[in-house]
Amino acid sequence: MGVARARPVGLHFAPMNREALLTSMYQSMLASLGESRWWPAESPFEMAVGAILTQNTNWKNVERAIDNLKTARALTPEAMATLPSDELAALIQPSGYFRVKAQRLKGLVTFLDQECDGDISLLAERDLDELRPMLLTIKGIGPETADSILLYALGQPSFVVDAYTRRILSRHGLLPEDTHYDEVRDFFMDALDPDPAMFNEYHALLVRVAKDFCLKKAPQCEACPLREYLD
Ligand code: SF4
Repeated sequence: MGVARARPVGLHFAPMNREALLTSMYQSMLASLGESRWWPAESPFEMAVGAILTQNTNWKNVERAIDNLKTARALTPEAMATLPSDELAALIQPSGYFRVKAQRLKGLVTFLDQECDGDISLLAERDLDELRPMLLTIKGIGPETADSILLYALGQPSFVVDAYTRRILSRHGLLPEDTHYDEVRDFFMDALDPDPAMFNEYHALLVRVAKDFCLKKAPQCEACPLREYLD
């Protein structure tokens, strides 16, 4: 069975058909791989910090940086706000791009101080369409990081898109790989119920499928839970 490279047809699906397809793909992945139980963290703030630290690196490096922040008692908005930038950068060095990420973390805590007096959980009460553009004003926070904060830290139904999502959709002829971020996000959000738990699990399953089967150079379609959705 080869990799599908059909013309992109995803946007031409009626939402009902797309809902049925995306739901079926989700159920196939879940039945085959089981629940992912992603993003264990001790607080919403830790999850938001993790969303920034994971930019351009793997989660193991993020965990090392988070451990350093915990040991230094710097994993609160108040502590991070008062910590000098160079000390913060040194603590998060394992995550890479540490000076840039230190500035981004500073931007996050300034935002939290201004918007919710440092209590990130209060943001969960805001409307998603109001909150997302606000997060995107923080320097260095792009759509994927903003959606990760919204979904994982705040429990908002905002679908997270990454390169793995794009690769799988494109190989199934649903959307071109270079489709704009928000268009890929809408592809899911226009069709599926706004369920944060499902969006969380869906993204995790796509990442697992991409890492274990949908490899960049040599996709393992025969063993993949999504093989029945190829042409
Ligand atoms: S490896 Fe899986 S997800 Fe990737 S193209 Fe093949 S069947 Fe689809």
